[in-house]
Amino acid sequence: MVEIQEYVDIKNYSTLHAGGQFRYFATISSVQELTSACAIVHGDVKYKNISIFILGGGSNMIFSDGVLPVLALKIEINGFEIINETNEYTDIKVGAGENWDQIVKMTVDMNLSGIEALSAIPGIVGASPVQNIGAYGSEVKDTILEVEVFDIKKGLITMLSNEECKFSYRDSIFKREARGKYVITQVTYRLSKSMPVLPDYPGVKKYFIENNFNSPTPKNIRQAVISIRQGKLPNPKEIPNVGSFFKNPIVEKTIADKIKMKFPNVKLFPIDRNFTKIPAGFLIENAGLKGRSFGKVSIYEKNALVLINTLDATSQDIISARDEIIRIVKDKFGIELVQEPEIL
Ligand SMILES: Cc1cc2nc3c(=O)[nH]c(=O)nc-3n(C[C@H](O)[C@H](O)[C@H](O)COP(=O)(O)OP(=O)(O)OC[C@H]3O[C@@H](n4cnc5c(N)ncnc54)[C@H](O)[C@@H]3O)c2cc1C
Repeated sequence: MVEIQEYVDIKNYSTLHAGGQFRYFATISSVQELTSACAIVHGDVKYKNISIFILGGGSNMIFSDGVLPVLALKIEINGFEIINETNEYTDIKVGAGENWDQIVKMTVDMNLSGIEALSAIPGIVGASPVQNIGAYGSEVKDTILEVEVFDIKKGLITMLSNEECKFSYRDSIFKREARGKYVITQVTYRLSKSMPVLPDYPGVKKYFIENNFNSPTPKNIRQAVISIRQGKLPNPKEIPNVGSFFKNPIVEKTIADKIKMKFPNVKLFPIDRNFTKIPAGFLIENAGLKGRSFGKVSIYEKNALVLINTLDATSQDIISARDEIIRIVKDKFGIELVQEPEIL
């Protein structure tokens, strides 16, 4: 039986520590509980104007102030199973509610590679396909075989192939046409038994040179990534944040080349012959904003891509700071930043 709570404070479920209240809230630890929660909402007139919101660790969300007219379903569906194994790879099926980083640690301990560079990303497994989590040149889409979903309206379980998820940079079908349609219940990843590919990122390479690693194992890459991230990303338990606040803009190569002429140190990431990805943190820092405060919200002094909630900011404070940063960067570089976390 699902217990539905009322007027639940959002701050405890948001790594940004901002937002009002969920009108209704329930934790879900099985597909059966999911089925009953959806049946309750669809069958009772008191939920007529209430939509279902799927909550993981709240580490990629900006929740609005006030009472949100939703039933937040906090996904706590567990499970870890090896479903297939060859000499080259191992396929694992993982429950959506498992902690992402615990699963990375487990697979790295099994000497499997594929998600080691995605170490220390907060949140649950079920959120990993949603924005196709990525870091240090790795994206989770390259390991996902299929995603098991519960169709909220039909009350049925379906499988979506990697292709059907339409993954792209920090994006998937779950953020677009299928937004609000499915609850991800399990994800199947294919992880390799071969030696891992060393992330092509200056900080990671420097770490391996300094630590004298020639052919790093998945465990070595995980250690490197954790060590680098600790220096650049504030722990949300101490300093509320949602990680990178802006996506790295993909711009026409001619625009990127002009910036490179003026700032030869900028690291560009070519996408194809016409487009290049440029670090948003570089643009914010070179607009003079690193460490700057906007009332109760600041740009983290060690990483210009991270906004921190310093003084119990409201969501409105955060949104105002965001708009100001976007405006200043646009004035300076002519590039419009796009925020990475979702707003509810
Ligand atoms: C310090 C820090 C560092 C970070 N670093 C990175 C990084 O390097 N790379 C990166 O990509 N992200 C990063 N993030 C962002 C965030 O951790 C990831 O996007 C993560 O996958 C979000 O997981 P969550 O469980 O907190 O999801 P939530 O924030 O709770 O939800 C995010 C979205 O996913 C949906 N969702 C969650 N679970 C399910 C489900 N089971 N079924 C359907 N929809 C679901 C929600 O409805 C919402 O739309 C970082 C965040 C922080 C705070």
